[in-house]
Amino acid sequence: MSLASLQASVQRNEEGIDLALKILAQRFGERFSTSAAVREQHGHTTTWLPNQAPDGVVFARSTEEVADVVQVCAQHKVPIIPFGTGSSLEGHVNAPAGGISVDVSQMNRVLQVNAEDLDCVVQAGVTRTQLNEYLRDTGLFFPIDPGADASLGGMAATRASGTNAVRYGTMKDVVLALTVVTADGRIVRTGGRAKKTAAGYDLTRLMVGSEGTLGIITEVTLRLYGIPEAVSGGVCPFPDLDSACNAVITTIQSGLPVARIELLDANQIRACNAYSKLDLQETPTLFLEFHGTEAGVREQSEIFGEIARDSGGGEFVWATKAEDRTRLWKARHDAYWAALGLRPGCKGVSTDVCVPISRLAECIGETYKDVEANGLLAPLVGHVGDGNFHVLVLVDVDNPQEIAKTEAFIERLNWRAIEMGGTCTGEHGVGQGKMKYLAREHGAGLDMMAAIKKALDPDNILNPGKIVRLD
Ligand SMILES: Cc1cc2nc3c(=O)[nH]c(=O)nc-3n(C[C@H](O)[C@H](O)[C@H](O)COP(=O)(O)OP(=O)(O)OC[C@H]3O[C@@H](n4cnc5c(N)ncnc54)[C@H](O)[C@@H]3O)c2cc1C
Repeated sequence: MSLASLQASVQRNEEGIDLALKILAQRFGERFSTSAAVREQHGHTTTWLPNQAPDGVVFARSTEEVADVVQVCAQHKVPIIPFGTGSSLEGHVNAPAGGISVDVSQMNRVLQVNAEDLDCVVQAGVTRTQLNEYLRDTGLFFPIDPGADASLGGMAATRASGTNAVRYGTMKDVVLALTVVTADGRIVRTGGRAKKTAAGYDLTRLMVGSEGTLGIITEVTLRLYGIPEAVSGGVCPFPDLDSACNAVITTIQSGLPVARIELLDANQIRACNAYSKLDLQETPTLFLEFHGTEAGVREQSEIFGEIARDSGGGEFVWATKAEDRTRLWKARHDAYWAALGLRPGCKGVSTDVCVPISRLAECIGETYKDVEANGLLAPLVGHVGDGNFHVLVLVDVDNPQEIAKTEAFIERLNWRAIEMGGTCTGEHGVGQGKMKYLAREHGAGLDMMAAIKKALDPDNILNPGKIVRLD
């Protein structure tokens, strides 16, 4: 994607930016930076989208400080791009019209753990692993686990999910309420700690997935879960992708409450073997985990074993010790970095689609044929229990033909998923990279999104040039 096409829809406001830079430098001192390295690190750094750095970066420490930055930027009509850990994959944190990146990573305190209510309140910069380390002695855990150690504010902003989503849902299911700074610098609380509410519009879910375009999240109230009494899991190899997908479809359709069911194709297994020192058979493989009572997980595992056998799967290899399971899931979480090793020197372009479970085998089958027909090296991994999968195309970015081929492949994949009743993104979000698919996916719904954006951010200062085009 060219820099020009990313910049097309938003204009720089040089005068406003100059004024805002001076005011913020004075107010935030050392916690404000205009150094090239810091600015670049706060633009897009993953995949091949060009880096569009902001003009300055503020490291905020409280909701009030975020509100302060927003008020300055609102007064001078300067873009503000919220920043968690920068692990998003579709150019979400780029600054096509410049402006100020508000980095919330220093807002990293767990504010409350209400064990009796199974919830907690955290500042937006707390990461998912930091929260789970904090919860370690409470018997509780937070289940949403994207491959990166992302911030909970960023995860709420992108409606993230991960390997546990098939059992515990996505960020839309676990965020109970948010504290948000709006485009005019007001501080709004979108709800309380009640497990359900019918009190008016659901502002929490409006903000979840809004990618910093409707407000800056400063605090997140989250559901927590009890650590299950028993956990079992392991890996199951399959002769081909079709039989692995069919096993997944039968598992989900039969209502088996798997906690995790992840597909890795043969290339991805080869990459994980090398990167994470595993010795798995290099064939399409399902990684599974079951949560429940001792008797419950035994029964679930047996039922899955039968489904796998009926679908042509090989012998289920149990990871009986907790440390073996941790090693397997660490390898799964490191799949992206492992895959990069398959073609050193190339960039990995990760794309994410999701289809109804009944179309999973068909969508993956057609996608795989497309990969082969175009001679691409593109390992496939998926949170397949949700019908969600990723293809990581390894591209030589100095080769324009390869780039063109990859862009065309990604487009076909996204149209294919949408035409199957699915979506152009199950979890990574829209950013800049997926904007072009939204009209087909949402039709008139996209106009409604634009109307909401205009109502809440009339000057288009919150993460402009993302999700909806306002021109
Ligand atoms: C190796 C790897 C594996 C990944 N695996 C997964 C996966 O399994 N599942 C998944 O869902 N994603 C995955 N991702 C993508 C990424 O980790 C998620 O999108 C994550 O939620 C981004 O969080 P972040 O803190 O890095 O946000 P950032 O990248 O900093 O920001 C993402 C977006 O949210 C906005 N934002 C950030 N913080 C706030 C805030 N406080 N208030 C308002 N808006 C904010 C930003 O403006 C931007 O638009 C993966 C990424 C990598 C690199």
